Amino acid sequence: MLQLQHERAPVRIYLSPPHLCGREQSLLNEALASNWIAPHGPQIESFERELAGYTGAAGAIALQSGTAAIHLALRLAEVGEGDTVLCSTLTFVASANPILYQRAEPIFVDSEPNSWNMSPAALERALADAVRSGRRPKAVIVVNLYGQSADMDPIQELCTAYRVPLIEDAAESLGATYQGKMSGTLGRYGIYSFNGNKIITTSGGGALVSDDLEALEQARYWATQARLPLPYYQHGELGYNYRMSNLLAAVGRAQLSVVEERILARRKIFGRYQEELSEIPGVDFMPEAAYGRCTRWLSTATIDERLSVKPAELIEALEADNIEARHVWKPLHRQPLFANCPYYPHSERESVSDHLFSSGICLPSGSNLTDDEQTRVIACLKQVLKQRG
Ligand SMILES: *Cc1c(COP(=O)(O)O)cnc(C)c1O
Repeated sequence: MLQLQHERAPVRIYLSPPHLCGREQSLLNEALASNWIAPHGPQIESFERELAGYTGAAGAIALQSGTAAIHLALRLAEVGEGDTVLCSTLTFVASANPILYQRAEPIFVDSEPNSWNMSPAALERALADAVRSGRRPKAVIVVNLYGQSADMDPIQELCTAYRVPLIEDAAESLGATYQGKMSGTLGRYGIYSFNGNKIITTSGGGALVSDDLEALEQARYWATQARLPLPYYQHGELGYNYRMSNLLAAVGRAQLSVVEERILARRKIFGRYQEELSEIPGVDFMPEAAYGRCTRWLSTATIDERLSVKPAELIEALEADNIEARHVWKPLHRQPLFANCPYYPHSERESVSDHLFSSGICLPSGSNLTDDEQTRVIACLKQVLKQRG
């Protein structure tokens, strides 16, 4: 009986599952055979070199998570108790949690409609207010959402003018470009994530990149329990156990070798959604800004008032067909965790992130999504949208 039910249920389609390439096994075996499962080993060094090579950053440190990388970047920016840090509001909580780890206060900045990323207009007002009140922020964390870079030129100009270091949260945008440069390499520090749902994965992991090799050495030291190179254990500073394991770095090397293929696959999936669904009045897709390449890590769309259906109902209908979809990030200025943190909307009349949250949906986007699976997703969406158009 159970068996029968199992056969009848359609196979589950995930939002963004891992996609192995086949080289993981042999690189893992290499790491195991060499006995370098600990401490830090040659796979890490190679992964760091290859990641720096791919992105064009001078150096990279492989870490246990993207969150750890943001935390180390904030330490490098000397963020401490009572300081303020400006951060994109439309993002995953991990972008801002490390601000709290450092006992500093986040100030949230809205998105602009062209890229869904940080609004330079809102950033400018936030910086001007902060400096006027005598509290220059210690850092700006700009998030590159769903595979697309923020508009970095005006953001960088503002950070330079106000002398605030820029940290690029490129957890979702490995391989995206801005004016020909790799996302994550435009700020002073950049971070990537290799969590299970990202464009490439080490099951869990992250990296910090920078052109400042001295800063990276400092971060590497903190990430290794701030252990001084002495014959005995001596610690003058607070450190963390944040380094990636050599085994996971082996997986990362295999994954990195196919990142360009993964980007093409995700862009193709996005293209098909757009082709088949954008003819429905009221359905719009996240725009691709003219300044660069979006990886389409997640295919995201908005559903406007012309359709009498809300994202929550669409997500529910997809779930009934065993298809995983999600809301667009709930803005951090709406989160109970960050109640009372200041927020700067795109303009006095318009909070872009709030609009995107209430109208946005993320569709299954894995690079291993098959044509037949995508047909199932599109059929389900069309059925609901046409009923309610
Ligand atoms: C995934 C993600 C992170 C955190 O990465 P982890 O590796 O899961 O710690 C940070 N910021 C954004 C925008 C993310 O999507």
